[in-house]
Amino acid sequence: MRVAVVSDIHSNLHALEAVLAAIDLEAPDELWCLGDLVGYGPRPNECCAAVAERADVCLGGNHDLAVRGTIDLEEFGGEAAVAAKWTRDVLAPEAQELLDRLEPTGAAHGVALYHGSARDPIWEYVLTDASAVATFELTDAPLVLVGHSHVALKILQSGDELEGAVAPAGTEVAVDGVRALLNPGSVGQPRDGDPRAAYLLLDLDAQRASFSRVEYDVERTQHEIRDAGLPELLAARLELGL
Ligand code: ZN
Repeated sequence: MRVAVVSDIHSNLHALEAVLAAIDLEAPDELWCLGDLVGYGPRPNECCAAVAERADVCLGGNHDLAVRGTIDLEEFGGEAAVAAKWTRDVLAPEAQELLDRLEPTGAAHGVALYHGSARDPIWEYVLTDASAVATFELTDAPLVLVGHSHVALKILQSGDELEGAVAPAGTEVAVDGVRALLNPGSVGQPRDGDPRAAYLLLDLDAQRASFSRVEYDVERTQHEIRDAGLPELLAARLELGL
């Protein structure tokens, strides 16, 4: 059983298409998405359609919930709120129907899935030892996948030992005999200094995970963001991966 895992697509269609093409070459059995299909970016409807067609499991993130109306836009700051409002205005009925079905937690093949964390599936960023431990304590699943921070990350717990690190492209992780919390990184708005679109490949039989990145046409997405009248910062940050 081999699974490709994506997260935080954020309406960046060209990043998503590059990731799906790279994933196709691996021919995994399933595709899982950890949420935030929309928000920030210029192509929400196409991204929702691609995920609806391809994903076997899909969570909803804070941006998905804000766009569909479950979260008040007051809880969002600056560019996130502007983009969520813009997305509501252009959202197609099919995309709305998809977003309406999504939940911030899930499970598949014994793997626990959260957009944020077990403690707060919608809002918490797992970026510290303490937040990782809190999630490990709230689930029995040996393997946990999270998104939300847009930082590719691996945190391994063995007995009392906790070892965490960012997971740049090419990172391979053995997840047998340990508890592991992995974040694939973001497809559409990476924030770990590598602007390339991120995804994770999991081999549940071999108990291995590998972190990958793929180039995409960043300028094309930047043009679309500017053409849509979305905040300039959302375009500028893509080439920096921040
Ligand atoms: Zn996100």
